[in-house]
This record gives sequence, C-alpha cells and structure tokens, in this order.
Amino acid sequence: MKELSRVYSAVAPSATMAVDAKFKQMKADGIPVVGFGAGEPDFDTPDFIKEAGIKAIRDGQTKYTPAAGTNDVRQAVAYRIKEDFGVDYDWGSIIVSNGAKACLFAVFTTLLNPGDEVILPAPYWVSYTEQIKMAGGVPVTVFAPESQRFKISPDQLEAAITDKTKAFVINNPSNPTGMIYSKDELKALADICVKHDLYIVSDEIYYRLCYDGNEFTSVASLGEDIKRHTILINGVSKSYAMTGWRCGYAAFGDKTIAKVTANALSQTMGSIGTMNQIAMAAALRGPQDSVEAMRKVFEERRDYMVERMNSIDGVSCIKPDGAFYIMMNIEKLIGSTLGGRVINTASDFSMAFLEKGLVAVVACDAFGIDHFIRWTYAASMENIKEGLDRLEAFLKA
Ligand code: PMP
Repeated sequence: MKELSRVYSAVAPSATMAVDAKFKQMKADGIPVVGFGAGEPDFDTPDFIKEAGIKAIRDGQTKYTPAAGTNDVRQAVAYRIKEDFGVDYDWGSIIVSNGAKACLFAVFTTLLNPGDEVILPAPYWVSYTEQIKMAGGVPVTVFAPESQRFKISPDQLEAAITDKTKAFVINNPSNPTGMIYSKDELKALADICVKHDLYIVSDEIYYRLCYDGNEFTSVASLGEDIKRHTILINGVSKSYAMTGWRCGYAAFGDKTIAKVTANALSQTMGSIGTMNQIAMAAALRGPQDSVEAMRKVFEERRDYMVERMNSIDGVSCIKPDGAFYIMMNIEKLIGSTLGGRVINTASDFSMAFLEKGLVAVVACDAFGIDHFIRWTYAASMENIKEGLDRLEAFLKA
C-alpha cells in the first residue's frame, strides 16, 4: 500500500478523547468508574433550544444552506457579540461551522502557508498544535508555569516572534488551566500582535464561565486595530450545554478573510445541519438565564474541588478563575509507586488512577506541561465528592 499523508499520519490522537474512550469502555464493561475527562457540561440543552430544533425539522427546514451558515444564524451571532461585548460585526464577517473545533481548523487552513509559525501559550488545549500542523504551520509554544498562574507575559510573547510568525492563539478563559487574562494583560499582548502585524486567533468558548466576579474581556473589544487583526472563535457547546449539536462560529475583523474561509467551507464541509443552525440562533437570541444558572453551579463545584484537593497530602492546585477545569499538581508524587506503578509522568498517574482508583482524569503531558493532571468539574457534585474520596484512598493505599 502507498504511503499516507505524512502530515496527517503524524497527528496525535486527542488525549482527552483517548481517556474518555477507555473510561466509556470500562463503564460499558460494568466497572464503576467515575469520569473527569471530557470537558462536557453534564446539564441538558435548555428546552426552548431543543424545541426550536424540533420545530425546524417539523417545518421542513431540512435542506442545504449556504456553507458558512444562513444569514439568520450569522445575524444571531452578530447580535450576541454586540450584546455581550458591545462590538459590531456585519453578518458577512461571520462563519458558522461544525463546532468551534471545525471553525479553528477552517481558520488555520485559511491563514497559514507552509512553514508559517503560530505562537501558542502552553499549557494549551490539545487540538491547537495538531490543527496548526495539519494546516502546514509550525506551532511555537511559550511556556507559562503555575508560578505565573499559567499566563504568559508580553515579554515572553515578544521574544517568541520571528519573521515567520503569522499568528498568535489565545484561549481565554483557558482550557486546561481555567485562567483568565485581565483586560490590561490582554491589551498588552494584543498591542504586540498589532505592532508585528500578527493575526490573533482568540478562542473565547468559555467566556460565560467566569467566577469570583471576574470580568471577561473579548479581544475584539480592545480597539479597532486589534479587532481588525482578530478572529474570534466561539460557539454554543459550553455556554448552552450543546456539545452534540456541533455549532460554533468565527467572527473576522477583516471581511476578506471571512470570504476566503467561507469559500473553503463550501468546497469541504459544507454547512452544518439546517435545524442545528436554527437551534443555535434560538440559543443566541433567547433568554440567557440558563447560562447564569449553570455558571453558578460550576462555581460552587469549583470551590468544593479546590478546597478538598488542597486538603489532600501529595497534591495541590491553584484556584482557577473560569472555564471548568482544575490543574492538579502532582510534582510531589513523581518517583513514588501508586497502584503498583512507578509514577514518572502524569500519564503514569492517570493510567494507574483509572485502572486502580477507577477515576478517569487527563494527564497534561499532551497539553505542553509535565506533572499536572486536569480534572473537569463539569460533573455532578456527587461524582466530584466520590472522585476526591477515591483520590484520597488511592494516595493512601
Ligand atoms: N476550544 C476549546 C478551548 C475547547 O475546550 C473546546 C472543546 N473542548 C473547543 C474549542 C471545541 O468546542 P466545540 O467544537 O464543541 O464548539
């Protein structure tokens, strides 16, 4: 058989999905495992959104639409951005695709030529590095340790820029760290990007999940020049518990890029389901109280998890500001034996903890940081308590 694409063959499978697959298999085999792997709200999609999708099907809204989405759903996106950030986007500067994930891929393939460098703060969400490589680019990571609350400084960004740098990716609030860049911190980074004429790909998918009164700032709201260089990435998966509907969007400060991206979509994926676009528009235009209700529950769970984790010997965590993840520091466990396995890496820990502790968590090696484990609190309080009980027992055994 002939050789497959070298670029695609080198793509690592999504680490979070691998843990989730093993967890689901163990569950299917009747093993009582508890999962903190995939970042998926455990709430159901609000009824009025479901009803909009069902009605669309009943009304015969089952045909092709423009590849970048109907005018209506793109207008709904523009409406939500204006409501939330006070920023104006023409609907023609917006594309809707198969989740924020597909939007990001469409954007990277639109922006990058072979060898173009993209700067990415680490720890990062797994898909960025692989997507950048699949699009022919070169991810250049800038490390943000726990001592910096997992945030990069403007000096670090500036030092990573070369004449090949095309774009900077920022995920705020962050998966996996849960950290939020303040308005001033963001502005300092964005100014550097504008100075060097870099595109800013700003993944703001967790923007509704900010705690302790932390204010979220969208990069696009920081000024006209910054907006022009920015591509906002967002979607409804996390805010409206709609992960399975596969609805995300990109909003471009420069309409030409939106058009090139829409052309690419028209030749590849085509549009997302017509009824999904209608449900997405309903979510964006409809009552927003369910978003706040979910946010409050996440905040309570975060508080419990942080306090409990820091009371357990051998592990620790700093308190995240947003999203629904916690970075558990396992530095003190390195070199010890747990569940019959010597722990040299975070992956050793996550495997031992799943097999012997019956808890699925994600090793952060794949996110560009050693000796950390990501837990999600997009899980019920009952499961969170059980998971931490099991952690305590696992570390004591
Ligand atoms: N960006 C980040 C940072 C994420 O964590 C996720 C989901 N895990 C996505 C994008 C993709 O979300 P979706 O494709 O469901 O819209």
